[in-house]
Amino acid sequence: MTEAKPVIVREGGAGPSSWEEGLSDAQPLLIVDGRSPDDLSSIHDVDCVLVDGRADAIGLARRAHSADPTVQVIVVAPGEERKRIERAVLFGRGLGEVWIVGPDEVGSDLVERATAVTRQRRSYRTTTAAIDHDLASMAPRPARRAIISDAYLASLLTVLPDPVISLDPEGRVLSWNAAADRVIGYRRFEALGRALHEVLRPLNETELAALLEQDAEKPVKDEIRFQRRDGEVAIAEIAVVLVEAADHRIRAVVLHDLTEERQIQDILQEKAMELEAQASELEAAQLELELANDDLQRINDELALRTREAEQARHDADAANRAKSDFLATMSHEIRTPINAIIGYTELLEMGLAGGLTEQQAVQLGRVRASSRHLLSLIEDILDLAKVEAGRIEVAQERALVVSSIAAALALVVPQSAEKGIRIEDPCNEDSSTYYVGDESRVRQILVNLLSNAIKFTDPGGVIRVTCGTTERPPDGADEADGPRAFIRVIDTGIGIPQDEMDRIFRPFEQVEKGHTRVQGGTGLGLTISRRLARLMGGDLTAESQQGVGSTFTLWLPTRAAPAEGMAEAVLAEMRQNRPRGLGEVGRALAEQADTIVRDYRDRLRADTALAMAAEIEDADLEDHAPALLADIAQNLLAMEKSAEVPERLLRDGGEIQRVIAELHGGQRVRLGWSEAAMRTELAILRQEVEAGVRRRLSGSEFDRALALLTRFLDQAERASLAGFRRASLEDPA
Ligand code: ADP
Repeated sequence: MTEAKPVIVREGGAGPSSWEEGLSDAQPLLIVDGRSPDDLSSIHDVDCVLVDGRADAIGLARRAHSADPTVQVIVVAPGEERKRIERAVLFGRGLGEVWIVGPDEVGSDLVERATAVTRQRRSYRTTTAAIDHDLASMAPRPARRAIISDAYLASLLTVLPDPVISLDPEGRVLSWNAAADRVIGYRRFEALGRALHEVLRPLNETELAALLEQDAEKPVKDEIRFQRRDGEVAIAEIAVVLVEAADHRIRAVVLHDLTEERQIQDILQEKAMELEAQASELEAAQLELELANDDLQRINDELALRTREAEQARHDADAANRAKSDFLATMSHEIRTPINAIIGYTELLEMGLAGGLTEQQAVQLGRVRASSRHLLSLIEDILDLAKVEAGRIEVAQERALVVSSIAAALALVVPQSAEKGIRIEDPCNEDSSTYYVGDESRVRQILVNLLSNAIKFTDPGGVIRVTCGTTERPPDGADEADGPRAFIRVIDTGIGIPQDEMDRIFRPFEQVEKGHTRVQGGTGLGLTISRRLARLMGGDLTAESQQGVGSTFTLWLPTRAAPAEGMAEAVLAEMRQNRPRGLGEVGRALAEQADTIVRDYRDRLRADTALAMAAEIEDADLEDHAPALLADIAQNLLAMEKSAEVPERLLRDGGEIQRVIAELHGGQRVRLGWSEAAMRTELAILRQEVEAGVRRRLSGSEFDRALALLTRFLDQAERASLAGFRRASLEDPA
C-alpha cells in the first residue's frame, strides 16, 4: 500500500492525546493546530485527517472537508462524546462522510483504510468532473438543485432497513450504511476499505466471488449464508448491481436479511410436517379402525351363520329326537304285543287247560312268565323315558290328596312286601289336609317305584315307613318354584346306598353294582323316570341314605298351579329365527273375518252334541273371550308386519293380554260348570274356525308359515285357558 500521510488536528495549545502514540512511530505525522481557518488550507494532499475529539470536533471536521472534500475525516472521541458527535455529524452540513471512532480503535489499519477511501474518492471525482464537463459542453447546465449534504444522503441510507454497501473496482467497501452495521455486526469504519468477504463472511467464498464478478448491469440476485460478527450464521437475499461510470466500475450490494423469516418458515414447515405426520397417523388409525370394523362385521356375519347353523342343528336334533321316540313307541308296541301273547299263553299252560304239567315243566313255565314280565316292564320303562325326554308326556295339574295317592300305590305293593316279610307303616293314612297339584297317575307311578325299590333292597323283617306333610321351603337342590311344597317320604331299613353312588342312581340304566341289585333285577330306569316326572310336575325327587342303615326318598310336589308360560315366548323365538312373510295379510284377514269366525264358532258350539250345556248359554257368554282374543292376535300380527325389528315388547305385552283373556275364559267355563274335556273341544273348534276364516281370504301356500304362527298364538291361548280352568277348579273344587 502507498504510504499514508495522515494529519492529526487538535485544538490550538492542546497536548497530544494518548492514541497518537500508536501512530507517531509508524507514520510521519503532521500536527495541525486548528486555531485559524488557514491552519487547515495546506492539507489538500494528505491521505486522511484525524480530528482530536476533545476540541470542537465538528468545526474542525468541517474545515478539513472544505479544504479537501475528498479526504477522509476521522473524529477520535471517547465513548461518552461519540453519541453527541454522531448526532451532530448526521445533521451538520458540509461535513462529508465522517468516521467517528474510539481512541482504542486508532491504528495503522484504520489509517490505511481511510487512505484507500480517500484515494478512491479522488479518482472517482476526476471521472465525474470529466463527465460534468462533457455534459456542460453539450447542453445548458440543468437548474441547480437544492444542495443536499452527503451526510443527508448518508442519513437516507441510514434509515433503510436493509444493508446497502458499495464496493470499489478492487472490491473494497466504499460505503456501509447503518443497516449493514446492524445486520452484519461490523461498524462502518471497521468495514470501509476492507474486502467485502472480510466483513461479510460468507460460508461459501467462491459463491460470493462469482456473484461479484458478474458483468451484468441488471441486478444479480441470489441467496447467501454468512457469519455475522458474533458468529451467528445468517441467511440473506443478496442483490449486486454494477454501476459503470467512465472507466470506473462500482458495485452496489444490497442485502435483505431472511434469517428470521427463514426461522419462522422452518418452524412453520416443521409444524406443517408435524401436522402432516399427525394427519397420516390419523389416516392410519382410521384405516385400522376400518379394518377392525370389517373384522367385526365378518365375525358378526360368522356368528349369525353359526347361530343359524346351531338353530338348524337344534332343529335337526329335535326332529331326530322325535323320530327316536316315535321309533321307540312303535317298537315298544311291536314288542309288547308278542310279549303279552307269551305271558298269556304261559298262563294258559300253567292253568293246565292244555293238559297237565310235570312239576319241572311248571317250574320252567314260571321262569318264562317271570322273564316275560321283566321284559315287559323294561319295555314300558324305556317307552316312558323316551316320552319324557321328547317332551311328549303331558302331566295334568290337578289338585289331589296325598293320602289317596299313597293308598293307591300301597295297594299295588303290599302283596310283594307281605311275601317278603316286610312291614309297611303308613302314619299318613288319616291325613286328609295335605294335598298337592299334579298328575295323580304319575304320582302313583313314582310312589310304586319308590316302594318297590324299598322292598327290593330291604331284607325280610325290615320296616318301610311312608310319611307326608307340607313345608314352606323344600331343602336345597330341590326345585326352585315358590310356594309351599307337599312331600311324601319312603323310608326303609334296607341296605342303603354308598354316598358316592347317590348321583348315579338317578341316571338312566345306572345301578349300584354291589349288594342285591343283580339279585333283585330291575332296569335301572325307575329313579330316572321318577325324578323327571316329578320335575315335569314342578316338583322334585331327592334321596338320602346311609349304607347298612337304610334309605329315604322324598317326593316334593307343588301345592299351587304353575302360571301358564309367557304367551309370547314361543312366537318370539320363531320370529327371531326367521320372520314369516305375509304376517300383515294374515292379520288383516283375521281382523276382517273375526265377526264371521266368532259367529260360526258359536253356532258350532250350540250344534255340538258333546257340548249340550252350550245350548242354554247366552250368545255373549258362549262367545266370551273369542272376539277380544282374535282382535288382539290380529293387532299383534299387523304390528309385526310394520316394524323392521322384532317388536319384542309389543309381542310380550300382547301375549300377556291374550294370556289374561284366555285364563279368564278358563275361569268362566268353570263357573258355567263345563268340564275340562268340553273346554278342550270348544278350543279345537275355535282353532278350526279361525283357520277356515283366514283361508277364505288367503288361499296360497305362501301364507303357510304366517298361518302357523297364528296357530302358535292360539296354542298358547289354549294353554292359558286350561291353566285358568285348573286354577279356578282348584279354588272352587265344588
Ligand atoms: P332299578 O330298576 O334297578 O331299581 P332304579 O332307577 O329304580 O332302577 O334304581 C337304581 C338303583 O338305585 C338300584 O339298582 C339300586 O342300586 C339303587 N336303589 C334304588 N332304591 C334303593 C333303595 N331303597 N335302597 C337301596 N338302593 C336303592
